[in-house]
Amino acid sequence: MAKEKILIIEDEEDIQELIRYNLRKEGYENLKVADSGELGLKIIPEFMPDIILLDLMLPGIDGLTVCRTLKSNPETEAIPIIMLTAKSEETDVIIGLEMGADDYITKPFSTKVLVARIKSVVRRSKYNVQEETPDILKRGNLLMNRGKREATLGDKPITLTFSEFEILYMLAKRPGWVFTRNQIVNEVKGNDYPVTERAVDVQIVGLRKKLGEMGNLIETVRGVGYRFNENT
Ligand code: CA
Repeated sequence: MAKEKILIIEDEEDIQELIRYNLRKEGYENLKVADSGELGLKIIPEFMPDIILLDLMLPGIDGLTVCRTLKSNPETEAIPIIMLTAKSEETDVIIGLEMGADDYITKPFSTKVLVARIKSVVRRSKYNVQEETPDILKRGNLLMNRGKREATLGDKPITLTFSEFEILYMLAKRPGWVFTRNQIVNEVKGNDYPVTERAVDVQIVGLRKKLGEMGNLIETVRGVGYRFNENT
């Protein structure tokens, strides 16, 4: 199988080199580098990358604006974006995720982690297409039937409230995917349930309790939100 086309939008040469070198080593040959948001946006319609690594702090058009531009264009909205961020950019990470970016990595990152994230984002974007319809979700020991609104862990049924069920289902549907509290609120709100961001934390505490030993299936992503353990 041909490896994915990757566009790296990053202005720091050291980081460009580091990423390029390591991705080549992993067999990703089809790479392009843009050192500004402007150039990135120019390259994309022609190159049509399978994945974009996007630095947030760029001269000129910043990373979030690039993200917004891509996610608001039907031609490019489906291209997965991994944001490359500094530790101090948590707020930007949240904004980016809510705009539809798929993941983020905090600098300095290990290249092993970067490659793992790329593979996981590629896997997810394929997986999601197939995952849209079925009502039954199986993740390790956890089985959820959305039609019947039943959940079991091993062979034990777990009794979940409406919101708990919705939240767990949303997270479990996309393992490894980080959801912000606001995204969780919006998802559950779709069913007329008044949930606030603070209430999400309370729901998660309740959910973890009900999952017992498997409570660690739900991971806290500090300062950002929650995700379902990818290695389930
Ligand atoms: Ca930068």
